[in-house]
Amino acid sequence: MKKLMAVVLLASVAAAPAAAQDVRATFSVGTATATRGQTARGVIKVPAGSDAGYDIAVAVVHGARPGPVLAIVSGAHGTEYASIVAVSRLIDKVDPSQLAGTLILVPLVNVASFERMVPHVNPVDNKSMNRFYPGTTTGSQTERASYAITKEVVEKCDHLIDLHGGDLDESLRPYSYWTVTGNQAQDARSRELVLAFGLDHIIISADRPKDPNASRFLENTASTRGKPSFTAEAGHAGTVETDDVDALINGSVNVMRALKMLPGAVKQVEHPVWIERTLTVAADAGGMFYASVKRGTYVDKGTKVGYITDYLGKVIAEPTAPDAGIVTFVRAVPSLQKGDTIATVGVVKR
Ligand SMILES: [Zn+2]
Repeated sequence: MKKLMAVVLLASVAAAPAAAQDVRATFSVGTATATRGQTARGVIKVPAGSDAGYDIAVAVVHGARPGPVLAIVSGAHGTEYASIVAVSRLIDKVDPSQLAGTLILVPLVNVASFERMVPHVNPVDNKSMNRFYPGTTTGSQTERASYAITKEVVEKCDHLIDLHGGDLDESLRPYSYWTVTGNQAQDARSRELVLAFGLDHIIISADRPKDPNASRFLENTASTRGKPSFTAEAGHAGTVETDDVDALINGSVNVMRALKMLPGAVKQVEHPVWIERTLTVAADAGGMFYASVKRGTYVDKGTKVGYITDYLGKVIAEPTAPDAGIVTFVRAVPSLQKGDTIATVGVVKR
């Protein structure tokens, strides 16, 4: 009997060598290659083209056990500091020996923006680094970087979180976006992940491009490729406050629990405020701006959100809220040119 058991065991081992082999014994993103249970650091190379190339830092936390691949990216806008700090801190916070699956962490996409303290755009080519996805190999630096991230990060992940925050000139109240793609199963999954992330204000975003070849935004590049994903924002006006950084770190960890990458109970935000559309208050005239509402303030239609003076202090305009809602962000600095965004009002879903 013992002999027979041994023969049967040997036969079953011999019959299933492929199934026992780990198809992801190592995981590579750019120059970072991690074996199971290891964290590796490296770069995603953006080759030189019509302008300079550069390196985007990346960390791969390859869990001891198999599981989903989650990418967390920040710093498309290089002065949204709280989100950049949050992702860089996540690298050592997640222990690969406790992890099932793999984390791809990219704290800073827009290096030139960070170094030169230029908000909104990549100063090398003056383009927003969250508008040119999926990117090209032949365009300017922003387009080539977007292409590299599509290939190295989006195509290698199952889920993606794009972290942002108020830029240098934006006083922002934290919120997430939930993208409605029309694919019900995918949307239910991304909704679950947004609720697990835990920010209590969620903007419903139903107007993103559906074409994966014209996806524009990073999150949408993942979503149009069938990967349940979302964007979240916390941080404001150049600050790195503990509340904002912790909200982004804890939210990311809770999403890992929801994906069963980490042990622990998932806490979903219970009664989030759903925002069905956002309205931009743009400046009719340039000058010096003074806010009269704070981020997160509820306003009525016609509520004055601030006033604009010329450079000698004479009031030249008093912009108002176009509808009732919550101020998701308001301009944080006096500098104002015609056409600039003064505030954004989120209209709450009833
Ligand atoms: Zn941003």
